[in-house]
Amino acid sequence: MLARAQFLWGLGAGTTTVATGGLDVWDPQTQQIRVLVAGDARGETPQVFADGTFGFAGKRWRGAPSTIGTPDGHFQLVTTIDVDAYLRGVVPLEASPSWPPASLQAQAIVARTFALARRTLSRPYDVRSDDADQHWGGVVAESPASTAAIDATRGRTLQFAGGPAAVFYSSCCGGHTADIAATWGSTPLPYLRGVGDPHCVPAPDYRWTREIALDRVLAAFGTRTGGTLASATPVDPDDSGRPHGVRLSGAQTVTVPVAEFRRALGAETVRSTWVRSLRVDASQAAPRLLIEGSGRGHGVGLCQWGARYFASAGASAAEILAFYFPGTAVSGG
Ligand SMILES: [Zn+2]
Repeated sequence: MLARAQFLWGLGAGTTTVATGGLDVWDPQTQQIRVLVAGDARGETPQVFADGTFGFAGKRWRGAPSTIGTPDGHFQLVTTIDVDAYLRGVVPLEASPSWPPASLQAQAIVARTFALARRTLSRPYDVRSDDADQHWGGVVAESPASTAAIDATRGRTLQFAGGPAAVFYSSCCGGHTADIAATWGSTPLPYLRGVGDPHCVPAPDYRWTREIALDRVLAAFGTRTGGTLASATPVDPDDSGRPHGVRLSGAQTVTVPVAEFRRALGAETVRSTWVRSLRVDASQAAPRLLIEGSGRGHGVGLCQWGARYFASAGASAAEILAFYFPGTAVSGG
């Protein structure tokens, strides 16, 4: 009851509407989740259609929408929805519908596990529809091949020691998935220590090189290197080879966490934290920093490109997930 009271308090005062059935969403027997469609509905009212969809912000969405007042006077749009109806607009954005069915099924199981594990009493929604959780594109994003993979795995989640596994995925691990503890400093998990991955070698970001104007690097770090940069070196690698930090030497030397290095220079340019080598090239009129790296994304958990090629080689969804999350099992259904 305490949890329910906190939930109602969390809705805030003032004019609030809650969809019928919205108070049952944390029942573990249901497969329903609440998805935040818009953090601020800006006065737009969803248009509900007879086919179970509704229109909002120029797109069609699924589920039962409700607007919820927040303490700061905004209205959030939240839809209560069967998790698989939601996954229809998630899986095609994470794995190309042209990829082998087993890789789409593995993605569906992981995305379902993630969403159901996010159910919470502490907010009026469980997952956001943007990249902060999983990007949900609504009805327009759906694809028959992805829907078939969702239907084929209905009710199945990834389990460890009798409960839902903590699941993560990223585009390409670069040849070795990352240890969750080394990556985020979180509690070690036996199935997220990292595995050598031979499957993603053909992926576009398996190895990459980029160059950045030195001025841009100095704009980010120059105050800590004395305004110049003569050399840069990835340092303190973990077991997978990913460095913990990048040492930048100019008039002064500083070591910055590799995650900060990536964030400051842009995640599209520095495509992962697996920075393999750095070289300052001052031979040109416009000096630059040359970067070589492996993989795209954080590298923890499922390697999406690896799953694609593993499936092409004949692996099932269960075999793919057992490889990337050793010691877990697919259950349910
Ligand atoms: Zn990989």
